[in-house]
Amino acid sequence: MTAYLDHAATTPMRPEAVEAMLPFLRDRFGNPSGAHALARDARLAVDEARDIVADGLGCRPAEVIFTGSGTEADNLAIFGVQRRAGGTAVCSAIEHHAVLHPVEHLGGRTVAVDGRGLVDLDALATALNESVTIVSVMLANNEVGTIQSLAAIRGVVAERAPKAVLHTDAVQAMPWIDVAEAASQTELISVSAHKIGGPKGVGALVARAGVELEPLLLGGGQEHERRSGTHDVAGIAAFAEAVRLTVQERATTVERVAALRDRLVDGLLAAIPGTVESGDRRCKIAGNAHVCIAGVESEALLFLLERDGVLASAASSCASGAQDPSHVLAAMGIGRDLARGSLRLSLGPPTVEADVDLALAVIPSAVEHLRAHG
Ligand code: PLP
Repeated sequence: MTAYLDHAATTPMRPEAVEAMLPFLRDRFGNPSGAHALARDARLAVDEARDIVADGLGCRPAEVIFTGSGTEADNLAIFGVQRRAGGTAVCSAIEHHAVLHPVEHLGGRTVAVDGRGLVDLDALATALNESVTIVSVMLANNEVGTIQSLAAIRGVVAERAPKAVLHTDAVQAMPWIDVAEAASQTELISVSAHKIGGPKGVGALVARAGVELEPLLLGGGQEHERRSGTHDVAGIAAFAEAVRLTVQERATTVERVAALRDRLVDGLLAAIPGTVESGDRRCKIAGNAHVCIAGVESEALLFLLERDGVLASAASSCASGAQDPSHVLAAMGIGRDLARGSLRLSLGPPTVEADVDLALAVIPSAVEHLRAHG
């Protein structure tokens, strides 16, 4: 048996989303930018998908820009605004690299978080001034799961940087939080299909009416000149189906998965001395279980867990697979020694009791083995 506990890295596709793709990989292959019947059919599919995604994100259909990933949505938000408006970009210190690196590239500023991973509102106020044109704070963190209060952040931004637009990376929040409500006071929202049971390589940026964006991709002028490139019609149709089901099932999934997560983390804390839960469970998404285990190295632990059927990760997944010290844990004040033993177990809608049982059977003995044998 395998327990897949890496849903923050990616999710298995929902069967309905796979079904939604297939017609567009077969007969309905038209290019939605064209004029004939097949093209019009594809355009209709993209428009229908746009309506569903807009509904799930609480915006108007015209405000949805389909992109090739969550990363592209984040880059479009940061570079798109800054290249049009100039000024300074500001983000939290625990953003995904898809936000952090663009902000750093532009010479922007990062804002400290507390031990729970919550943005320090005083530090935010200090980082802001009239020259700031974009502020980016993720709705839920990909490593430790901390949920930010975007309403409180909006308040500080409105007071200290009135010209700034507020962007939120809601890629990890979407399975667990009503993004339409939680991000209602932001101008820009990024999401990604493969974190909610959709395909990889599809995402969206919500850019509310009036937000000026310089496109990253120039060409055929698709997406109202904001993102050129022929639409991935199959991927977009599947993305919409994943959004529809995620929103429909969210409340029951959150309740069920939060109980599984609590059993998992409480079980690990009880069974493994020297284990510390990262952050504060009261302000985390339901699918996140993150602990730091003293006296073990994540990489060695993950190797043993995989051997015994538990697939997890240490920090966020990055292209190289290399485990750099996590900037998120460092920003939360977790020391390097403890951070070396970080373990992220991320649950998803398909997670069941048996996955938790296996993890609780396997992880304590793997830790014991590593502590005994180095
Ligand atoms: N933002 C967050 C918070 C993420 O967790 C990820 C993926 O791990 C991304 C952005 C990037 O999304 P994508 O994989 O679609 O490029």
